[in-house]
Amino acid sequence: MLPPRLSRRSRRKAGLKAVIARQERARVKEQVALGEIYFFDLFKDERKAIARMKLIDLLQSVPGIGQSRADVIMERTGISPSRRIGGVGHRQLDLLRQEFLLMKNSRISGKLLVVSGPSGVGKSTITNKLRSDDRFWISISATTRKMRTGEVDGIDYHFVSDEKFEEMIKKNEFLEWASFAGAKYGTPQQAVEDALLDGKNVILEIELNGARQVRTNKKSAILVFIEPPSWEELTSRLVNRGTESEHSTQARLDRAKEELQAASEFDHVVINHQVEQSVAELVSLALR
Ligand code: 5GP
Repeated sequence: MLPPRLSRRSRRKAGLKAVIARQERARVKEQVALGEIYFFDLFKDERKAIARMKLIDLLQSVPGIGQSRADVIMERTGISPSRRIGGVGHRQLDLLRQEFLLMKNSRISGKLLVVSGPSGVGKSTITNKLRSDDRFWISISATTRKMRTGEVDGIDYHFVSDEKFEEMIKKNEFLEWASFAGAKYGTPQQAVEDALLDGKNVILEIELNGARQVRTNKKSAILVFIEPPSWEELTSRLVNRGTESEHSTQARLDRAKEELQAASEFDHVVINHQVEQSVAELVSLALR
């Protein structure tokens, strides 16, 4: 049977669409190569052009893989070379993750850094300075607390309902989680694993109980405690920040006393006299 004949206009439209899709795929490959997008995130991407992209083409763009390694991975996982991103199933994704893990173990990989310390000590200010450094990846926690003015969902936190948080606990999706000042906070495990596999130094900015869980579950993690120069300084920072109600500020101060006593449980203590200096200390701990 002959294919249906398209009018000139339809042919032009289809041609244009194909060009746009090609450009979209080329851009994504470039972003993967530059480390701006994680390989595994693209399997959740809903764009048609990405779903139709060949897995092997994308694999070749991953830093450290290239053509021959991509061929080996396809062979070892048994995935057909014609498989497209949209057609990769859960089991095949797991096999790919295993391959990445093997690769990671055979080369220098990122470190997992846990940054902890009392509320108001300046943890977010310090870690935010590393957002633009592509050697680092800052984990985005899920939380049930209300969004503050200026915060953005998906950037500062994944703001979720109590029900959703419970569901995530049940599905074992957290590397750690804890309650803090009336809300729940947790680190989504998969995103952390993916970033580590991608060779990033991953930073978790979390409270004490979460840090203790990571200590137990991830022996290789480096635990860093950020200490205020003095108790007075911490109190004034927390009060002047003005983000909390009186009740929440008091809860955070009570908790801060408890947290300060735990500094000795950590691998390193950084006294936050000056943000730039603290950032430099953190970078040197990750890169040494
Ligand atoms: P805030 O409400 O001020 O953003 O955070 C309150 C506390 O929760 C801070 O000490 C922060 O480090 C901690 N936190 C943020 N995300 C997580 C997380 O995923 N897990 C745990 N355990 N603590 C977190």
